[in-house]
This record gives sequence, structure tokens and C-alpha cells, in this order.
Amino acid sequence: MSLKNSMDEIRKRMGIEVVGEATCGECGKTFEITRRHDVVSDHCPHCLIKEEDDRLKQSLQDQQHNRHVRKYERYCSIPDDIIGKTFDDYTPHTSSQKQARAISERFVTGDMQEHSLVFQGSTGIGKSHLSYCIKQAFNEQGKTVIFIDTPEMMNRIKQSFGNYGDNYQEQLLKAMKNTDLLILDDIGAEYVKPDANGYESWAADIIFQIVNSRLGKQSIYTTNYTSKDLAKKYGMLSKRIISRMMSKAKVIKVDGEDQRLKGFE
Ligand SMILES: [Zn+2]
Repeated sequence: MSLKNSMDEIRKRMGIEVVGEATCGECGKTFEITRRHDVVSDHCPHCLIKEEDDRLKQSLQDQQHNRHVRKYERYCSIPDDIIGKTFDDYTPHTSSQKQARAISERFVTGDMQEHSLVFQGSTGIGKSHLSYCIKQAFNEQGKTVIFIDTPEMMNRIKQSFGNYGDNYQEQLLKAMKNTDLLILDDIGAEYVKPDANGYESWAADIIFQIVNSRLGKQSIYTTNYTSKDLAKKYGMLSKRIISRMMSKAKVIKVDGEDQRLKGFE
């Protein structure tokens, strides 16, 4: 039996009869108009197949996009209180906060000379909040982002010693080097036991490796500390750490009251 004959046979068994022919206004191909139980079907099958095909392709692309964007997500550590926040949730209380928000929104569009940001200012004025919003926007653009809280990062590295060897640290540093955007939140807040000279040389060494690997790439660093404080903390490596952090970066000094403590006398 030929294909046409078997199609006719199937149609007959399903009670479908051909009642005419039409030319598709969309693709220009001809197709048969059919009727089954008084319901006339005059959709172009060629276009229906193409639509379904496009839908599948799109959903495959979306899946690949998500997989790519989420590639480094397991390395992120984001403070709970800012997850899900948007730029609209950020209410500036001072002119520097207003400026910080405006610069953050501009950073996302890529319309800036500097390719990195350094947020400097005390706790609770939204440095992490704005950085998180930038992360979300970059993800939407299909870019990979690692947002990591520096004290938490140091804890994870310390805990990994002995348990999995140096492998975790190696993988983490590699991911931090390769991600499209790195957000190192709260630099300087990590506590590491100082060495005999009073410097946190172990932490300084890791921070240096990270900021050094980000040269020429987009990064955001947030800190409660001044460069003088950081210099005291990191000792020998501090100059090199600070110069890497500042490389092609716009420094945003943010002031204001701690919004999380507002009303707490
Ligand atoms: Zn068609």
C-alpha cells in the first residue's frame, strides 16, 4: 500500500473526509481542508509543524541558557535578607545612596568607562543589595555571576581542608577566575588568626590570588573598610590587593544609617 493510500485509509477509519484544498497565506503551500464530525479543519499543517518546531527549539535554547547561567551558582553565598530584592526595593536615604543606585543601574547597561565597581561604606546601607540586583540583571543577560560573601568563603575553604584536600579551594578559585562577573562581598570582614607579625597572611594570600585573577574582567568588591584599614589587615600584600581591586574600577562611597537597625535605640 502506498503512503497516500494508507493515509486515506487512516482518515476514513477516523471519519475524516477531505472537503477541499487551500493555499496557506503564511507559507504559500497548498493543503487539504478536512472535516470530521462537522468540524472543519483549515489550519495549514506545514505551519503547525513549523510552530511546534520553533517552540521546541526555543525551549531547548532556554534550557541551555539556564544551565549556562547557573553554572557557578553552587559557589554563591548570598545573605538571606537580600535574596529576591530588586532595584525598586532600594530606597535611597542619602545622596550618596541615590548615586550608588544610579551607578549600579548604569553598570548593568554596560554604559560606563570603568568595568568594575568598589562599594565602600558602613554596614546596612545596601551595598550587598545593589550588588545582588546587578547579579540578577547579568544573569538575565545570559552572563555567569558568582556572588560570594567573603567571610563565608573563607570558612568554606578552611572547612574543606583535610576533608577534600585542596580540591575545593582550587575549584572555587578557578570558577571565580572564569565567571563573567565576580562579586566579592564584604572584603575585610573575614576573621583569620593573624600570624606572628600581626597580619592575616593566609587570608591575604587567597584574596590576592582572587583579585589578581580578575584583572581585565568585571568585578564588584564591597567593603566596610577604608584602604588604610585593609592595608593594616593584609600587611605585605595589601598594596597589591588594593591596586588590583581598584583596577579600572569606579569607587562608590556610600554613607547613611544602618537601615536594618533603624528604630533600634
Ligand atoms: Zn502554511
